[in-house]
Amino acid sequence: MKQLTVDLGERSYPIYIGEGIISGLAATLANHKIGTKSPILVVTDENVAKFYLAQVKDSLEAGGYRVATAVVAPGEKSKSLAVLEDMITVALEAGLDRSSAVIAIGGGVVGDLAGFVAASYMRGIRFVQIPTTILAHDSSVGGKVAVNHRLAKNVIGAFHQPEFVLYDTATLKTLPEREIRAGLSELVKEGFIWDREFVEWFDANTDKLLALDSEALAHALYIGCGVKATVVSQDEREGGLRAILNLGHTIGHALEAVSGYDELLHGEAIAIGMVGAAMLSEKLGNPGSIAVETERILRKLGLPVRIPSHLDTDAIMSALMHDKKFKEGTMVFIIPTAIGEVEINSNVSSVWVREIVERLK
Ligand code: ADP
Ligand code: ZN
Repeated sequence: MKQLTVDLGERSYPIYIGEGIISGLAATLANHKIGTKSPILVVTDENVAKFYLAQVKDSLEAGGYRVATAVVAPGEKSKSLAVLEDMITVALEAGLDRSSAVIAIGGGVVGDLAGFVAASYMRGIRFVQIPTTILAHDSSVGGKVAVNHRLAKNVIGAFHQPEFVLYDTATLKTLPEREIRAGLSELVKEGFIWDREFVEWFDANTDKLLALDSEALAHALYIGCGVKATVVSQDEREGGLRAILNLGHTIGHALEAVSGYDELLHGEAIAIGMVGAAMLSEKLGNPGSIAVETERILRKLGLPVRIPSHLDTDAIMSALMHDKKFKEGTMVFIIPTAIGEVEINSNVSSVWVREIVERLK
């Protein structure tokens, strides 16, 4: 088992990564002083419940815990105030008190929702995260938890750090293949922004990663979570550094919005966005080899690297303009300046951006 410490100033917590470690959940809770006196709420979604809920519930009960469960529908729609209220109802009926904990088992949706339940129930109770997607490595570092409002995503939220994160690579084996590739997109992004060696390792181990080799996954998640933890903790000193985590996200978010959030997975949209950012880099005078290399690596992961041709350029540009980062004919972009290095460039001409959007189709 690998262990990584996320140190965010006022509090730090461990991320445990390994194959089969979910079976030690009850013992890990006890090590973290989450005792059996108060009931525990386990939140998950229908897909994840099918594979893992019975096993987790049984092993917690065998460890003497009283367990309440809440199973939500899969997908972003469950990140709502209505579902939050349902969770609170379950928590109250089960008698959760200030010494209780909420355990999230699932992807980013479940983590964000359950984390916000933990942050808000009785002004905050303890939270444990068991991510079951590769993409969720991202939301397991940084403590951002939230539900969506009808008008905007993630606007009802809080910062609430988990007691610990338990990443069992065995749980990733049931992920749909498309989710695997999309999760690897966000993971290799951590390399593109910070760690050339990691990108090279990723490139050399693509087959192992796609085959869900446990050791390869554990290594990649360890490095990826580590990069995010480093960037987030340095952000406290160098205000704004955190923005580099958004490589590929400016174009990516616009594509998600224009396609109605149901055509492209987040990781797919940012793969296209990372290629776009690398093409913009060439416009800014950096070597064209960055875009070639970025595209090659993402293609090898089986990710889309072009904008679906039916998406309208004007609609994409207008979604980009609505992005708060736009001002007076220039846009702020995270630009790769080499493989494994980026800069925050606030001087990217919107004319170039349009040109790149066209070229990407
Ligand atoms: P993320 O934002 O991390 O991609 P989501 O919570 O949206 O996560 O999960 C993506 C999809 O994958 C959902 O349909 C979810 O139910 C499903 N899922 C999550 N983890 C697993 C798993 N380990 N096995 C099978 N399906 C999973
Ligand atoms: Zn992302």
